[in-house]
This record gives sequence, structure tokens and C-alpha cells, in this order.
Amino acid sequence: MTPHYSVSQCPLCGNGLCGIRMCGIHSDAPHGLVVCDECEAIWQEPDTATEHVYPDAENARCPICEAALWGPHSRWASREDCRVLGWEAAIDEDLSGP
Ligand SMILES: [Zn+2]
Ligand SMILES: [Zn+2]
Repeated sequence: MTPHYSVSQCPLCGNGLCGIRMCGIHSDAPHGLVVCDECEAIWQEPDTATEHVYPDAENARCPICEAALWGPHSRWASREDCRVLGWEAAIDEDLSGP
């Protein structure tokens, strides 16, 4: 499960990619998260200099809506998702897919 679009390499674990996820995709309030694909650190802004949280490792949930982090209510963001979130400018193209 590699992110499609990432904002940076993870400053915390050094190995992961901080990928953009779209959560709440079936709700009327979709929202973005940045999640490290290695250590699961979560940022609520597309900027890893902001405060992060770690979810419960056994039961990772979105800090905004509390849906399961890897469940059916969220996905790695598409380019269109990034546009909807207004996070397109934060994408590091060198770390992201086409
Ligand atoms: Zn990490
Ligand atoms: Zn959520």
C-alpha cells in the first residue's frame, strides 16, 4: 500500500512516505490526512512540520472522524482528491506517481 501522492519523506521514522489520504469519502464532509505508510504518524495538515499524532497501533482511527484509518471510508488520495482538498501544491512530485 504505497501512497499515490506524498508530501515528504517521514521526518519521524526516516523510512516512510507521508502520503495524502482522503477520508470520509462516503460522507458529506470529506477531509484530508497525511499518513506515514511506515510508522502511521498522522498530520491533519499537508505539512509535516505541524503537530502529528500516532493512532492506536491495534485499532488505527482517523483523528477527525474516528473511522478506521485503513477502512472503506478512506483511500490514498487521487490527483482529483488532492485538488478537492486544496492540497495539490503540497505534493512532492519526486515522491509521487504520475
Ligand atoms: Zn514515519
Ligand atoms: Zn476521517
